[in-house]
Amino acid sequence: MLQFDIVTIFPEIFVSYFSESIIKRAVKNNLIKIKIHNLRNWSQGVHKQVDDRPYGGGPGMILMMEPIAKALEAITVNRLPLTANKKKTVNSKRLPVSRIIMLTPAGKKFNQREAERLAKYDQLILLCGRYEGFDARVDKLVDEKISIGDYVLAGGELPAMVVLEAVARQVKGVVGHDHALAEETFSKGLDYIEYPQYTRPEIVEIRNQKSEIRKLRVPKILLSGNHAKIKKWRGKMSNKAR
Ligand code: SAM
Repeated sequence: MLQFDIVTIFPEIFVSYFSESIIKRAVKNNLIKIKIHNLRNWSQGVHKQVDDRPYGGGPGMILMMEPIAKALEAITVNRLPLTANKKKTVNSKRLPVSRIIMLTPAGKKFNQREAERLAKYDQLILLCGRYEGFDARVDKLVDEKISIGDYVLAGGELPAMVVLEAVARQVKGVVGHDHALAEETFSKGLDYIEYPQYTRPEIVEIRNQKSEIRKLRVPKILLSGNHAKIKKWRGKMSNKAR
């Protein structure tokens, strides 16, 4: 079972999101496991310090390396050196394979292919930064760095949720219908867009800016019951930016 371990200084952020809907169901059905770890558990001193000022001066605080190193040592299931880990065939007969991921805007851009790739591991450890980010030496402890997009957020918690959900959806059984995964946007390539979908009622009335009523209808073909024609239409309508 794929296990996610999230290391954060704000563990409470995850509670609400993971206790609803698809992720909650996936955990309940033993399809994935999620463990949230408070980095402060591995800090030193009464103040549970995990951050300090940057050498050389400058604004903000930097997450210290030592608590992170201790956390990773405690959490990582497969203790093989990273080089040996890399050589291993994912999901062959062997010890579980862990992957340690730093969330950072400077990382490799995350996308659906990356989600599919990561779903093959047994344990994904997601390191959430805060403040001005990590001591640069933390790089030496991680297998890869992931960015969820070219913008800077206040912390790695939202990126961790994004990565977790996108990866979890690739685990068999997490999305109710396998069919949905096979057809959805990006499934057939990063430039693939799913066909438009409609539900009841057949006609919806809206007012345009001139206050005139417009009727929006479901395409007739979808009401025809002719599945071969519907399939063809859907093929034609895929990949059209909307
Ligand atoms: N000083 C850092 C820099 O310039 O690259 C930015 C630090 S950011 C304010 C704090 C933390 O948020 C980062 O360490 C990272 O974990 C997370 N973060 C922010 N934007 C992100 C993104 N686009 N993708 C992944 N993680 C991000």
